[in-house]
Amino acid sequence: MNPPTDIVARVVKGTFLGSVPIGIAFILLGALGHISAGPAAIAWAGLSAVVAVAVWVFVSDLVGVLTLAEQDRNTDEHEQTTSARTNIGRELGVAVQRLDNTATRRLKRRERDFDGLEGALDALPGPLLQLTNERQIVRANRAAEKMFGGNLEDRDLAGVMRSPSLLAALSRAVEERVGQDMQFVLPAPIERSFAARVEPLSKPARDGTSLVLALVDLTSIQRADQMRVDFVANASHEIRTPLATLIGFIETLRGPAKDDAEAREKFLTIMESHAQRMARLVDDLLSLSRIEMNEHTPPSGEADLAGIIEGVRDQLEWQATERNVTVELDIKAEAFAVLGDADELTQLFQNLVSNAIKYGDLGSTVTVHAEAVVDAPGTVGWRLADHGAIAISIQDRGDGIPREHLPRLTERFYRVDTARSRELGGTGLGLAIVKHIVSRHRGALNIDSEAGVGSTFTVYLQPAQDQSTGT
Ligand code: ADP
Repeated sequence: MNPPTDIVARVVKGTFLGSVPIGIAFILLGALGHISAGPAAIAWAGLSAVVAVAVWVFVSDLVGVLTLAEQDRNTDEHEQTTSARTNIGRELGVAVQRLDNTATRRLKRRERDFDGLEGALDALPGPLLQLTNERQIVRANRAAEKMFGGNLEDRDLAGVMRSPSLLAALSRAVEERVGQDMQFVLPAPIERSFAARVEPLSKPARDGTSLVLALVDLTSIQRADQMRVDFVANASHEIRTPLATLIGFIETLRGPAKDDAEAREKFLTIMESHAQRMARLVDDLLSLSRIEMNEHTPPSGEADLAGIIEGVRDQLEWQATERNVTVELDIKAEAFAVLGDADELTQLFQNLVSNAIKYGDLGSTVTVHAEAVVDAPGTVGWRLADHGAIAISIQDRGDGIPREHLPRLTERFYRVDTARSRELGGTGLGLAIVKHIVSRHRGALNIDSEAGVGSTFTVYLQPAQDQSTGT
């Protein structure tokens, strides 16, 4: 549109429409002899000029309002008025601006609502995907992008999740327009199982969304269920074995060995060791469940690390003497106190030093070394930069552990050599207890070992506050 030309054309047209009836009136007046031709022509020209000015004023105001409406469509809300000359032009201008401001406000509110909705979808912990009827991904929330990789938009869902049963559920939802619930497994890159809900929208959204697919990752829940089942099976097996042995010996003592004093003494010693292992097993199971129950609340007290380690060495003296092992302590002054629960830390170091004595060579030396360090594995639950860490390492010379076993060593009942562990009175729970105590203390555990050379178990704990601040 070209407003000036438009104004001229409209003014010419309006003036023509106004001056024609005036001209006809003058012709009639002239014909009736009320006015002569000269004055009639002058009066007609004058009145036509007045009409032209009036038409120009109105038309220019209206075109001004139109131009304003046209410009406002893409601009922000504002209060400026038009420069209209007539009242009606000014009122129209204000009305157009009000309408426009209302529309702008509504648009902004929609944008805010949309941003809020996108934010809410991104905040959902589970993956959520918006799909077209043809399974094309319109939008994926942050959890979906994290799980299935970025750039999901516009891709075919079949290329992202290769599950025939999921695709069948989507087709059913499209055909029947009814929500579908199902479970499916994705085999690659690692096997994961999901619960899925496919919900068709009553009518497609403007962006093309016709279906919403919400997923819940069941992998860890199913793994935890499996672990619970395995744990019960393992614990029962661990208890059943010594029980069966005890029952066997009781029958032998009642029967064939009834009057054999020497055999009775020998069998009673074996029975005692089995009964003690069962008692240790029950103690360890109870410790494990107690520590697990408190694992979400880290201990806040201070513990005397040097005292704890010395106490552990004294308690295990009989075991060390039996194997002719020397336990050497090297606790630096800066490592004397840590944040922690003294009873749990005692149990932790008892398990580690006892293992070092058990699996170390006869007549070897076990060294316990504690010092302050600035570096620790990234898993510690506090800011190393502020406090540093106290590293306590327990080193033995002996069996060592082949590398492939290291990642699973802290699992319950996991043993490198089951027969040897049982023969040494082990329950298979010692390192699982260590792991949970370390985790409750928000610390870290590092295992370094070489088969045939020996192992070093290093525990990282948080130093007591007064030490870290130097007060
Ligand atoms: P156990 O009661 O069998 O000692 P743990 O949970 O304490 O159970 O240890 C699990 C397994 O890890 C042990 O059976 C043993 O095979 C191995 N292990 C633990 N500590 C050591 C060590 N210091 N040297 C060699 N092997 C070890």
